[in-house]
Amino acid sequence: MDYQVVVVGGGPGGYVCAIRCAQLGLRVGLLEERELGGVCLNWGCVPTKALYAATKLIERASTADEMGIGFPPPSIDLTKLAAWKARVVSKLVGGIETLLDKNGVDVHRARGRLDGSGRVALASGETLTAERIVLATGSSPIEIPGFPFDDPLVWSSDDALALTEIPDRLVVIGGGVIGLELATIYRRLGSSVTVIELLPEILSAVDLDRRTLGVVKRSLAEQGIDVRTGTAADSYEPAKDALAVRLNSGESLEADRVLLAVGRRPNTADLGLASVDLEPEPSGVLAVDDSLETRARGVHAIGDLVAGPMLAHKASAEGVALADALAGGETRVLDHETIPQAIFTDPEIASVGLSERAAKERGREILVGRFPYAALGKALGMRDASGFFQIVADAGDHRVLGAQIVGAEASDLISEAAVALQAGLTLEAIADAVHPHPTLPEGLKEAAENALGRAIHTVNR
Ligand SMILES: Cc1cc2nc3c(=O)[nH]c(=O)nc-3n(C[C@H](O)[C@H](O)[C@H](O)COP(=O)(O)OP(=O)(O)OC[C@H]3O[C@@H](n4cnc5c(N)ncnc54)[C@H](O)[C@@H]3O)c2cc1C
Repeated sequence: MDYQVVVVGGGPGGYVCAIRCAQLGLRVGLLEERELGGVCLNWGCVPTKALYAATKLIERASTADEMGIGFPPPSIDLTKLAAWKARVVSKLVGGIETLLDKNGVDVHRARGRLDGSGRVALASGETLTAERIVLATGSSPIEIPGFPFDDPLVWSSDDALALTEIPDRLVVIGGGVIGLELATIYRRLGSSVTVIELLPEILSAVDLDRRTLGVVKRSLAEQGIDVRTGTAADSYEPAKDALAVRLNSGESLEADRVLLAVGRRPNTADLGLASVDLEPEPSGVLAVDDSLETRARGVHAIGDLVAGPMLAHKASAEGVALADALAGGETRVLDHETIPQAIFTDPEIASVGLSERAAKERGREILVGRFPYAALGKALGMRDASGFFQIVADAGDHRVLGAQIVGAEASDLISEAAVALQAGLTLEAIADAVHPHPTLPEGLKEAAENALGRAIHTVNR
């Protein structure tokens, strides 16, 4: 079959790219070997956030007494919870199927591999030809020696999201975003959780200030999640229907399951890269230029397969930018610093642009403003008032350089700062915009006012 564009992989990078290409009049084929929506919809963003919301209810109900409202201890029907999560996922996957169909994208439910220039071979034996090929095959969890995923005692994030059981004792190896999000969910479900992190700090792959991390670390401790940094898990051995995880400190931790969340690696294996003289970088990513084209002419790559944060919205943004360029538009280079990141710990963390530390390390003269959730009427009324808003701006022209929010609904609140950063807006643009009261977004406005030294509800520095 002959196409102008063939996209390999139907995740948030691939399916978005395919739809945009079709909208722009290109003849497009999309290959997906598992589920449309990729990791994000099926084993990532969506199921974790559905479970984050569901388990938040447990935490809210158990602490509502302060408001004079009491509930009996929660009962958890894991089968029903899993079915509910599956319904959320399947609704979204169904929506994508419809969108692909209505936009005229040919979907091939098959694994594909490059078969020389302009050719993609399907597992069925069929070959698709295309002027342009977009690789969007995503990433998979990394396995480390001593912890094989084929042992049912060792979970990947996919296994943890399958919700087959609530282990009494869960050891999470990896204090990054995925490890901490799943630790939070399983702790709320009732597991006793220990997180093992090799590096001296949690969330070290994200540019966060110490103050921001401090809020989350305190909260993890309050929730009873035991976080051990600077510690390596070496191996495990069976112990009475369970396992004992051996640490480099010599200590052994008994657990019922161990969740390995030490990162993800781009899916480049068996992709036929050699047929177009390509090979991944030592880090596993495929190198691309500004137009997201690999060193092989006509072969492009997006999403988790290429450098930058492994985030769904980054993959989709690349998918759209690439489609626009393939249809004859200008090459738009995505600035990774303007990509916001949300982390669903309790409280949530969200950030965009530079941290205060990174801005100083770059020698920037900066203004920094902060505002605590505890001073927001809305947050107090929600009984969710820990954390703060922070905004960093250039001291000369006051343009916003970055923001960090740690607290309730931070993932929703960061978008205002992301727009400011992307559009080159100043502190004044946020401070002077009238925000409705009482709401959480007032926190960013107040932080901007604080940075300008004209805050009303905090003491100016
Ligand atoms: C537990 C977890 C939670 C996450 N939470 C968030 C979050 O809250 N927010 C966020 O932004 N990101 C989150 N992510 C990351 C996000 O899921 C990824 O960044 C995103 O899915 C990457 O999109 P992609 O299109 O590059 O690849 P993927 O989503 O991995 O999709 C790739 C697709 O390609 C298919 N495929 C692979 N090889 C082939 C082949 N040879 N032929 C045909 N098909 C193939 C795969 O089956 C897959 O469907 C999370 C990830 C995990 C694991």
